[in-house]
Amino acid sequence: MLRRMQVYVSVDMEGVAGIVHVDQTRRTGHDYEKARRWMTAEANAAVLGAFDAGATGVVVNDSHGDMRNLLLDELDPRAEILSGSLKPLSMVQGVGSTHGVALFVGYHAGAGSHAGILDHTYYGRVVARCRLSGRVANEALLNAIVCGELGVPLGLVTGDQTVCAQARETFGEGVVTVAVKESTSRYAARSISPELARAKIREGARRAVERAPELAPFRPPAPHVLEIDFVNSGCADAAELVPGTRRLDGLTTRYEAPDGDTLIRVIQAWTVLAGSTMV
Ligand SMILES: [Zn+2]
Repeated sequence: MLRRMQVYVSVDMEGVAGIVHVDQTRRTGHDYEKARRWMTAEANAAVLGAFDAGATGVVVNDSHGDMRNLLLDELDPRAEILSGSLKPLSMVQGVGSTHGVALFVGYHAGAGSHAGILDHTYYGRVVARCRLSGRVANEALLNAIVCGELGVPLGLVTGDQTVCAQARETFGEGVVTVAVKESTSRYAARSISPELARAKIREGARRAVERAPELAPFRPPAPHVLEIDFVNSGCADAAELVPGTRRLDGLTTRYEAPDGDTLIRVIQAWTVLAGSTMV
């Protein structure tokens, strides 16, 4: 058993069992209220698994959209919740060197993936593809860099089979993956039941926390060369306003980030500016 283990959980929505459409993931969508309960239950499953493994504290970061999705009354009272936006570190706000492991729940494939439910990277309306140091990046990769630089390894990724495959390819077999659905296209999947998904996530979180002491933090060498292909040149015009940004062509901007903290801030600054130009 672990002597002391604080656990960090980042919870997104698109990778939750049963979710296949923005009608479920947008606050104004008809099925949103039901979907946010599924999301909360999967977050709770990770919290329970962490405590099963002997965690001494768990913080949960609501990492989707306006970051006010999780239903606090339905979460394990032992967990603390980060909710609301804007957060400087967005999906990994609140992670710190006191955490022994990070768990990413309800995650999804990066923008431009094939057969990934609601694939996108940070801001789907404006980002067509994101690359980091030449390779296509998803949110798990970007967020794991922030965790890794604080010495926090990534222990668990849950979502569809595509984000799970991307996680194993990026982080190796040490990361536990739980596929709760098999995506056939961007808006269709064969899902296990929400109830079974929760049982698997609880078990996966328990294993991830138990094996955390043997996991190496994810630390690709800096600088982190960020490139985003935007959906139109107006978005890139706006992103280019951020000092230090280089414009590569009509659609693409580049930034050499010295660390993960800067990386996430630049992604947010670019996409907030780019989003402001959308008509
Ligand atoms: Zn996301």
